[in-house]
Amino acid sequence: MPPPCKPSCPLPSARPCCARAALCLALLAGAAAMASEQPPAQALRSDSGRFVAANAEFTLVHELGHLLIAELDLPVLGREEDAADQLGFISLFLSYGRQRDADFYAKLLDIADYWRLEWQREKPAEEEVYAWASHGLDAQRFYNLACLIYGSDPDQLEWVPKVTGLPVERALYCDQEYAQVRKALAWVEQQHGRAAGEPIRHRIQVIYEPPSLRLEDSQRLLEQIRRSGEVEAIAARASETYRLPRDLVLRLSSCGAPDAWYSRTGGELVLCYERLTYFQTLAAQLPRLRQLPQPALCQACR
Ligand SMILES: [Zn+2]
Repeated sequence: MPPPCKPSCPLPSARPCCARAALCLALLAGAAAMASEQPPAQALRSDSGRFVAANAEFTLVHELGHLLIAELDLPVLGREEDAADQLGFISLFLSYGRQRDADFYAKLLDIADYWRLEWQREKPAEEEVYAWASHGLDAQRFYNLACLIYGSDPDQLEWVPKVTGLPVERALYCDQEYAQVRKALAWVEQQHGRAAGEPIRHRIQVIYEPPSLRLEDSQRLLEQIRRSGEVEAIAARASETYRLPRDLVLRLSSCGAPDAWYSRTGGELVLCYERLTYFQTLAAQLPRLRQLPQPALCQACR
């Protein structure tokens, strides 16, 4: 666990603050002896193809989160966009089962780092995400995902806060955040899951529209994605896991913008080819994010 330079005390009373400071020091002492604070080299390796595939997958599971909220009429506390990120993350995370190797964590970092790149990118005003918007700020979505990754296994992932810059004040509670999200998905499956042997009444059909001619990059990416079978696997998994109330469509299409959405009216999830080429453009900046910061001394230890 990397120590913060100046552990802040966001809680109003002094007692929790002292408890946090003590815990910080205990973590500092323990961290020195823990091998799990060293990231596996594979997890830090930048790979453009993996970045595109991981973020295409996360875009689909995020939109599937919207689909489930709408089609299963799920209760949502807080913003739907945050709920869709959480449903998407936990569905994707669990779909890998116990195969939690360095490549798996590299994919999860790719997904979080997409939001870090969006956060740090200079944007024209029309692309800015404002505080009043329905989506969280890019920086918040980055830290939310980094927290869920770390919280999934804090004992083994001491290196995640170091690589992502997740502050200790948030990291301390990430195991609880992960447990809440895991519990929410278990509830959805319990309430709306298809029983073993129960026939599948409705499915999500995958449709690939031909990309527009000017999108040659999309054509190449599309071939890679079709070959992987990942889109069909995601659609089949959702169709087989939940009792969907009607047939739905997952459409890949040229839309003129790097977008994705779920339309309740049409029962249609759309992933734009432009989004795939956009991921590829952003991936070029990935190597600079995967540098370990120089160790910083905790203020309390100086
Ligand atoms: Zn959304």
